[in-house]
Amino acid sequence: MATKQLELHQSVVKFLSNAPKKMLINGQFVQSVSGKTFETINPATGEVITKVYEADKEDIEKAVKAARVAFEGPWKKVPPNQRQMLLLKLADLIEKNAEELAQLETLDNGKPIRESRAVDVPVTADHFRYYAGWATKIHGETIPVSCGNFLTYTLREPVGVVGQIIPWNFPLLMAAWKIAAAVACGNCVVLKPAEQTPLTALRLGELIMEAGFPAGVINICPGFGETAGAALSGHMDVDKVAFTGEYITGRKIIQASAGNLKRVSLELGGKAPNIVFVDGDMEAAVKGCIGSVFFNQGQVCCAGTRLFVENKIYDEFISKVSDRAGKLTLGPGLCEETQMGPLVSSDQLKRVTGYLETGKKEGAKPVCGGDRATDGDLQKGYFVKPTVFANVNNKMKIAQEEIFGPVVSAIPFKDIEDVITQGNDTTYGLSAGIWTKDIKKAHAVAKAIKAGTVWINCYNVFDSAAPFGGYKQSGFGREGGIHALELYTQIKAVWVNLD
Ligand code: NAP
Ligand code: MG
Repeated sequence: MATKQLELHQSVVKFLSNAPKKMLINGQFVQSVSGKTFETINPATGEVITKVYEADKEDIEKAVKAARVAFEGPWKKVPPNQRQMLLLKLADLIEKNAEELAQLETLDNGKPIRESRAVDVPVTADHFRYYAGWATKIHGETIPVSCGNFLTYTLREPVGVVGQIIPWNFPLLMAAWKIAAAVACGNCVVLKPAEQTPLTALRLGELIMEAGFPAGVINICPGFGETAGAALSGHMDVDKVAFTGEYITGRKIIQASAGNLKRVSLELGGKAPNIVFVDGDMEAAVKGCIGSVFFNQGQVCCAGTRLFVENKIYDEFISKVSDRAGKLTLGPGLCEETQMGPLVSSDQLKRVTGYLETGKKEGAKPVCGGDRATDGDLQKGYFVKPTVFANVNNKMKIAQEEIFGPVVSAIPFKDIEDVITQGNDTTYGLSAGIWTKDIKKAHAVAKAIKAGTVWINCYNVFDSAAPFGGYKQSGFGREGGIHALELYTQIKAVWVNLD
């Protein structure tokens, strides 16, 4: 157990001292119209970090108006190379303030500081840089038509005002995934961060203004889903909504979008099969399995939560995984040695421990963990022990429903056909992992698995240039790479009569 916490960077202290935190609308940090605030909690201790002004319908109204005015006016006049410069400047500012952002993220979300430093913050900067590159390379084409003497060309234009709603598991990184591509394409944005983790998005808002983005191009309004989120997804002057979160919320977003038939893209949950064949590199697979389910306390939509292990090595493999899982250092995210922090909230703790009980009742056997961690100061926070369930079959609730915690369900399989059938027996289709040295088998399984991302002999590898998104009920639309440009642009065909 880790206990010695690092001292907060003075810039974090300064950021927090100025409270309640205001939202960013039309280039200004403002209070909520209602004056209402909400608390954001440190999940390692259950203590209040600070208060944040709570966006509601009226605030969303103001933000959408500001985004519309910016989109129809000043932002349209900013040429692509200037958009590029602004995004590059923002990436530089993120790097310059990296330690502050990492600490703020860990404080608010709970994740280990080593992860915030190595993943969340640098990948955020990289994402803005990657899409800065695209800003000057988005263009239409000329079409050789056969129906007459015409010059026919296309314009690839921004969709307009985009509402973006994100979850709490990667608060800063999800903000980057949403904002970077949208703004590179010339859209204006209203972002609603998750109510559990609003802080880094607000700090990002300060950096956005420091970078010099015109007022109204990016608005950041923390608030609750049923109020601010619903107002944004149902707003008649929002042209598109991009959402990441639970599939149930995804359905509500689609319903809310019907009013003005706004465009929708959804990144929803997952229940990924991580498949270990007898001929895989066992050490690498064990390590990959640990990373796939315990990274970010398992609060990752693509986590390899269904561990399929070939019969012959099932017991040996599970024992290696549980040995390693049992040695993970639990503690507050702000301890340098911490490898697994608390879950994000008391609600999430309730959800995950509920599934631990369900699993036991269903007959699954926890060979490691299996309950809340309450040693010493851990009892103040929302800690769950890394858990490995053996004796699981794919029909059990813990194998079908998304737990979103540090819990892996190990399921035996007979052969390649069996694992493809079981692997695909889920309503989700976000990702999958395959461990084998047989290249033919690897490609055959990769082709047969219904998922938006398949990792072969690796897991949870990401790059700004690669697409990410779901098959089936894991959603639709792809973020990352060239594919995100399709989410944020629309095509106009122009015909010129040359006769
Ligand atoms: P969630 O409840 O769906 O919340 C996600 C966001 O939607 C939050 O900002 C939330 O606001 C907002 N929201 C809630 N109800 C809404 C409504 N009626 N209208 C508009 N917005 C609404 O999900 P969560 O519990 O925060 O996050 C965990 C889930 O997200 C998991 O199922 C996970 O698999 C999924 N996830 C998917 C991905 C992916 O890339 N596919 C990534 C991360 C997470 P408040 O919570 O602030 O009220
Ligand atoms: Mg928090």
